[in-house]
Amino acid sequence: MAKVLIIGAGGVGQVVAHKCAQVPEVFSDICMASRTLEKCKKIARRIPRPIETARVDADNVPELVSLIKQFKPALIINVALPYQDLTIMDACLETGVDYLDTANYEPPDEARFCYKWQWDYNDRFKNRGIMGLLGSGFDPGVTNVFCAWAKKKHFDEIHEIDIIDCNAGDHGHPFATNFNPEINIREVSAIGKYYEDGEWKETPPLSVSKIFDFPEGIGERKIYLMYHEELESLVKHITGIKRAKFWMTFSDNYLKHLEVLENVGMTRIDPVIYNGQEIIPLQFLKTLLPDPASLGPVTIGRTCIGCLINGIKDGKEKNYYIYNICDHQKCYEEVKSQAVSYTTGVPAMIGAMLMLTGKWRGKGVFNMEEFDPEPFMEKLNLHGLPWTEINQ
Ligand code: NDP
Repeated sequence: MAKVLIIGAGGVGQVVAHKCAQVPEVFSDICMASRTLEKCKKIARRIPRPIETARVDADNVPELVSLIKQFKPALIINVALPYQDLTIMDACLETGVDYLDTANYEPPDEARFCYKWQWDYNDRFKNRGIMGLLGSGFDPGVTNVFCAWAKKKHFDEIHEIDIIDCNAGDHGHPFATNFNPEINIREVSAIGKYYEDGEWKETPPLSVSKIFDFPEGIGERKIYLMYHEELESLVKHITGIKRAKFWMTFSDNYLKHLEVLENVGMTRIDPVIYNGQEIIPLQFLKTLLPDPASLGPVTIGRTCIGCLINGIKDGKEKNYYIYNICDHQKCYEEVKSQAVSYTTGVPAMIGAMLMLTGKWRGKGVFNMEEFDPEPFMEKLNLHGLPWTEINQ
């Protein structure tokens, strides 16, 4: 029985709150805090169990510390934006509270995905006797656990990993993103990067693509090579990897809009002067685009995210594919959010549950693949994200 403080009342926060509320034997008390109190209250009204709400600016450490001292959580689930990771980790250090997030820290003025900033907290977390779990969403998150599971159960050596993320859903808008538009567009328009033979290789944004045939009737889709943060931690923690790549599907319509927005400068993250005032074009664009939390009722179709792994088992070469398929409308029926928020929020709740029940414990800062994957894999099946594996 533990108190949990959820920070961030967006699409993902809504799922985390619903899923934690479904497990009262672990999450005895829940507080949902965010910058806009009304969003927390709106989520709380939809949950069939009383939860507390609070307003907090998570960029402000003293504000966070005062909320933590008042609510006294055992764990903070950070589902605000990557910009808030370090201030929330600072507040955890000051108050001695455990930490979990779903996305690595990014400085607002530089679209660079790198764990260094958060791994640098390891000694301080260790000395304070607290635990930080990084990237407990789907990708990163479940994809890291899939790789640890493959290593434990199916391979003696892993040589190649392709993480493949497909959203085969449709929200009916000409252009919208399924999670925070600013973070999504920064990620998609960044330089592509993959790991091969001991070095990182770069490619121009979305310049490498191929066709992949997705299972269970989703069929052939074009996938694009991108850089994603879990590649960095997987290469560090799973020895013997020769090649690691991350791929994502995009519709032609999404790419057409993105190209135009880039060409006219709307995706820039450096300040420009407008009417005598500094604005960041991408932040302005975010205010015009549909709120991802509003896509739930209108999104149809499925997501399919998984890992295609190659390596050696009992002296023989082997290929293995493990994936989850998630239906947007079923997610909406259950928690009033579409599948991209759902597939992120459920693993955040499971990571929190494993920390609070002592199944995943440690002092310091950890990535998901550093722990035993078995309890996590079991909980995925129980809490809405069943997985399927194909030995080839
Ligand atoms: P949203 O934009 O829908 O929600 C973000 C929430 O954080 C909003 O409620 C926002 O408040 C709040 N917030 C922003 N800044 C602050 C602040 N300074 N203090 C307090 N609250 C703040 O984003 P999503 O729910 O779509 O995404 C949440 C996180 O999940 C992101 O970090 C994203 O990168 C991550 N993610 C991870 C995935 C994975 O698989 N690992 C996949 C998808 C997302 P306000 O409403 O006032 O702006």
